[in-house]
Amino acid sequence: MKVIGHLINGKLTHSDTSPQQSRLQDLTNPSTNEVIGRVALASKATVEEAIAAAEAAYPTWRNLPTAKRVRIMYRLRDLLEENADKICELITQEHGKVLNDAMGELQRGIENIEYVCSAPEMLKGEHSKNVGPAIDSWSEFQPLGVCAGITPFNFPAMVPLWMWPMAIACGNTFILKPSERTPSCALFIAELGIEAGIPAGVLNVVNGDKEAVDTLLTDRRIQAASFVGSTPIAEYVYTTGTARGKRVQAFGGAKNHAIVMPDADLDNAVAALMGAAYGSCGERCMAISVAVAVGDDTANTLVAKLQAQIAQLKVGDGMDNQNDMGPLVTKAHLNKVQGLITAGIEEGAELVVDGRNLKVPGYENGNYLGACLFDRVTAEMHIHSCEIFGPVLCVMRVDTMQEAMDIINNHEYGNGTCLFTRDGEAARYFSDNIKVGMVGINVPLPVPVAHHSFGGWKRSLFGDLHAYGPDSVRFYTKRKTITQRWPASGVREGIQFSFPSNS
Ligand code: NAD
Repeated sequence: MKVIGHLINGKLTHSDTSPQQSRLQDLTNPSTNEVIGRVALASKATVEEAIAAAEAAYPTWRNLPTAKRVRIMYRLRDLLEENADKICELITQEHGKVLNDAMGELQRGIENIEYVCSAPEMLKGEHSKNVGPAIDSWSEFQPLGVCAGITPFNFPAMVPLWMWPMAIACGNTFILKPSERTPSCALFIAELGIEAGIPAGVLNVVNGDKEAVDTLLTDRRIQAASFVGSTPIAEYVYTTGTARGKRVQAFGGAKNHAIVMPDADLDNAVAALMGAAYGSCGERCMAISVAVAVGDDTANTLVAKLQAQIAQLKVGDGMDNQNDMGPLVTKAHLNKVQGLITAGIEEGAELVVDGRNLKVPGYENGNYLGACLFDRVTAEMHIHSCEIFGPVLCVMRVDTMQEAMDIINNHEYGNGTCLFTRDGEAARYFSDNIKVGMVGINVPLPVPVAHHSFGGWKRSLFGDLHAYGPDSVRFYTKRKTITQRWPASGVREGIQFSFPSNS
């Protein structure tokens, strides 16, 4: 049986170097619940070995010309394209999402690398001549040192690629701790990085759980940490890391609402909502999980059209691209989502489509749940306040767009949102006043492209800088400003006690 180990100092290791026996955790195929491998859970000692390798590699790597660092990224990009099918199979085997969907996330990851290839341009700095008599000044962006990334199960290829390519292109060295539920893909991509020419120690991968994360957050050699996952852990990572003086950005959970206006093109809105709510089985931080219909007529038509589309949905093994939706990631997560559906019924929401009795022939042990649709959900209900992270769409009914916006603005999360309308004035008011980080107008999943940056507001992000794009260059570097004077030879400079200025 395969064991997913670590990549430390350029070498794959399946064993743990701690005196205790290595801890291993079963990996299951969500479609069947068969054990398909085991993942090694790194001890503190193993993580410290990776940190030492990253620290040793840093001085040489930081001084390599950026153009040479970036050339490796060009090669990695090609290797990712060549190995795309294998990468997507690894994603689907452990996560369950349909292969086409896995290809979409890999493509987004590749686009991040293409942006990283512009690092020489991004790191040019700023220069001013003659800021004073014979004085020039410039700002440069220096790497931080050893950085860490901790990633969630739901985007095993894309989210790690938000982090380490830019971090190392900027001259840092890196330790990635992928999700222990979907570890194979990130490790394989890192191996491709080594094949592309990343020197030993510059990129390390440690698999593991809380022990590995806590070691990264408390070790004084780690300068910065990027985290993506659920809000309670994001908050923990942010407070633990910043308390030790590290730079931290921690991306958390979400509850993304789409407002459907009476003037919207309802057929297009329903098509968009189907993909955004049920794609990837709802296990996306940008999934639309609430549709807020303005007016009862809009709500009635919306619910009827959604019911008709849900009846057409094909749910089955993610390896078959004919399917629209695969299984949930684990049995434990399936049980959690089913418990929330029961809670929704108990608190008075109307379950108009119940996907709980779905059976997929040949995959009876899989973590399957059909699409569920709740109507008449209210803001106070638990199924509205919590992140369900499953194929469950809640419909809320309001009378005005302002009422819908108040619901969104009062929610603890602020990751993504969308407005379906044909009214430009309403769209402009909405995008200007909604308290959410990523906004779509007739675009249900407004995930920014690679040359913009990704991030939510409120309790969807702890920290200031967003992921990838221009913000990631700022996150993985620190500004240094140098002021220099070369007076003409022979010029005597007097003593000056007043604060230097151009007055
Ligand atoms: P998670 O919080 O359970 O795990 C994320 C990472 O934290 C994993 O690497 C895990 O090993 C580690 N971890 C888990 N418990 C820990 C603990 N007690 N101490 C230290 N580390 C711990 O998240 P998940 O279930 O893997 O991913 C789903 C969540 O991620 C959802 O809430 C989703 O919204 C969120 N997410 C957010 C974004 C975003 O950009 N905002 C993107 C993707 C996913």
